Amino acid sequence: MSKNLTSRADDYSKWYNELVVKADMAENSAVRGCMVIKPYGYAIWEKMQAELDRMFKETGHQNAYFPLFVPKSLFEAEEKNAEGFAKECAIVTHYRLQNDPDNPGKLRVDPEAKLEEELIVRPTSEAIIWSTYKGWIQSYRDLPILVNQWANVVRWEMRTRLFLRTTEFLWQEGHTAHATKQEAIAEAELMNDIYAEFAENFMAIPVIKGIKTESERFAGAIETYCIEALMQDGKALQAGTSHFLGQNFAKAFDVKFTNKEGQLEYVWATSWGVSTRLMGALIMTHSDDKGLVLPPNLAPSQVVIVPIYKNEEQLELITEKANGIIKGLKLKGISCKFDGRTTHRPGAKFAQHELQGVPLRVAIGPKDLENNTAELARRDNLTKQIIGFDDLERTVETLLTTIQEELFTKALNFRDSHMTKVDDFEEFKKVLDKKTGFISAHWDGTAETEQKIKDATKATIRCIPMDAKEELGTCVFSGKPSKQRVLFAKAY
Ligand code: AMP
Repeated sequence: MSKNLTSRADDYSKWYNELVVKADMAENSAVRGCMVIKPYGYAIWEKMQAELDRMFKETGHQNAYFPLFVPKSLFEAEEKNAEGFAKECAIVTHYRLQNDPDNPGKLRVDPEAKLEEELIVRPTSEAIIWSTYKGWIQSYRDLPILVNQWANVVRWEMRTRLFLRTTEFLWQEGHTAHATKQEAIAEAELMNDIYAEFAENFMAIPVIKGIKTESERFAGAIETYCIEALMQDGKALQAGTSHFLGQNFAKAFDVKFTNKEGQLEYVWATSWGVSTRLMGALIMTHSDDKGLVLPPNLAPSQVVIVPIYKNEEQLELITEKANGIIKGLKLKGISCKFDGRTTHRPGAKFAQHELQGVPLRVAIGPKDLENNTAELARRDNLTKQIIGFDDLERTVETLLTTIQEELFTKALNFRDSHMTKVDDFEEFKKVLDKKTGFISAHWDGTAETEQKIKDATKATIRCIPMDAKEELGTCVFSGKPSKQRVLFAKAY
């Protein structure tokens, strides 16, 4: 397969799909809408998981695991949640197959093996978890419960895209239980802050923290907090959500606790999640026409050493040198791989590492051994320099920090230059037509106006920013009064 990618300017969506496949991150599977995450893609996901897991534990959360299936009677207990997910869930009705007497060699569902109660494959786990929490919570002493689960979920999506929207996806879902409303709100906000910190400091993706409008809110939530990112094609991506669920699930599953005053009260809840969609955010924020660009924090190997040699003896000497470098870098906590494959030429290796976004490449040839130098190349801005072996470790260490910071700054500048204040609907449409991105505009607060704007422009309200200042104005569509600006964008 040719390693050349379609350019972003030619066809952004084709570029994205090709990049995911050619960089060996994931591919479509035999199951419609479900993907195979390949080892290289999974290694990046594992980096995300490890950091998030660390952040969750640092803030007092513990991991647990709940069943994949939700009995229908539990699924439907919280009505709004059930109604929201009913349109996109998979249902297990039978538990056995048998030989099909009419079609030799084929199997069919055994009609005798019908489940008494249908099982829903979890699209989210509030129902199964809150039915369990009922047994865990009696008194204020049992609270808070701060639990997270790493799992797969299934949502029967009609239009799927690798990583961005798949029928089955991997995620983490936090489910917490609290004695007071204030504590639950604080938790939902804290987790949204953690997502923002993770996106910005670890993934180098600038995000806007905000709350969703009622029509974009999670089914069953009182408030949905979110982080929104801007992709290079000017479309927004919801990168994470954190929900304040009020007492909705406690009421649906009758989860009460005795408070310090001896009275019975319903428990307060939150849930929060990020998914493998973050892989899509990563790709569409930093990558270029040559392939993936990885922030050093997320790179399975931060450095790759490629030997340039003509014979075995040269390869041996370079390998020895490389082993020394790898050891030194390892002591500094830097991951480095030696690409000593004899089956590939250096040019092919360069192309592959470029496509796969390895942040730094070190090339060492026989001349370099003589001169005590190496060629050091940056993936992000494609610059190269000749560097003495003595300076190599220190330079690599500094550069990795620099790259991480510069990728963030570049993405932030892009986002800021694609944020337009608009006060007139004709202007609103014009901006969306030519230069997409976020539009900051006044909105009258009604779902009706929100829908009309969506119908006319395909732009939705991505969020009401947390840091929005009160500013009196008039709605960009209806002309009715508004107290603050909200962010609109076309979105994934
Ligand atoms: P939600 O439970 O709807 O708040 O979603 C939790 C997280 O999963 C959010 O960050 C969503 O953007 C993400 N997400 C929702 N649906 C999908 C999907 N089909 N594929 C990948 N990620 C998704």
